[in-house]
Amino acid sequence: MVEEVLADTAATSSYSGSSAFSHDVIAAMKKVERHHFVPSELTAVAYHNRPLPIGYGQTISQPFIVALMTDLMRVKAGDRVLEIGTGSGYQAAILAEIAGSVYSIEIIEPLGKQAGERLKSLGYRNVQTRVGDGYYGWPEAAPFDAIIVTAAASHVPPPLLQQLKPGGRMVIPLGTQFMTQYLMLVEKQQDGSVTSRQILPVRFVPLTGGH
Ligand code: SAM
Repeated sequence: MVEEVLADTAATSSYSGSSAFSHDVIAAMKKVERHHFVPSELTAVAYHNRPLPIGYGQTISQPFIVALMTDLMRVKAGDRVLEIGTGSGYQAAILAEIAGSVYSIEIIEPLGKQAGERLKSLGYRNVQTRVGDGYYGWPEAAPFDAIIVTAAASHVPPPLLQQLKPGGRMVIPLGTQFMTQYLMLVEKQQDGSVTSRQILPVRFVPLTGGH
């Protein structure tokens, strides 16, 4: 699986800007066993480089996309990271291998609870999960060094931008379910100004909720 991810990286480097993922990202992708995060009937295909259904109409993302988003976040040891869309908990586990602490929010209660228990049973003590609408972030745990949104939004949620540290990075797919979505890298500069860069076209389930 990791070899396929690395081949995808080479093939998309001209527009993603990433010709090689960091050592930390590759090590985390090798270490976290994806079969723990997919339904038991899909164990045989857990290491295919593609998204898989996890129930409730949701998916565990394609490993290449997980690696790319993690790499773009430039997470380092000790960082405090926020994830919107816990899903299976796989992306949270990858982040937990690198960061100091991971906060992850899921809007579908059974998915969020299951992922929280899974991460605990796998020994991830630096991940906290919560069920709720991630649009509003996790203000009590802010500010964050990096934020990842794993569902497509129509715009960058202002509460998330507020909860990002100066110098911090947010990776978020922007667009609607039926139109082209782009993975975006949004960076908050030290002076508080915000820049964004389009990385590549993607297809994510929509960010839901009442916002
Ligand atoms: N990161 C996940 C993983 O590693 O398995 C995959 C996430 S899946 C592509 C997107 C997830 O975002 C779904 O589980 C969905 O229920 C969740 N979601 C959608 N809107 C949300 C919201 N407003 N707040 C929190 N989670 C949300």
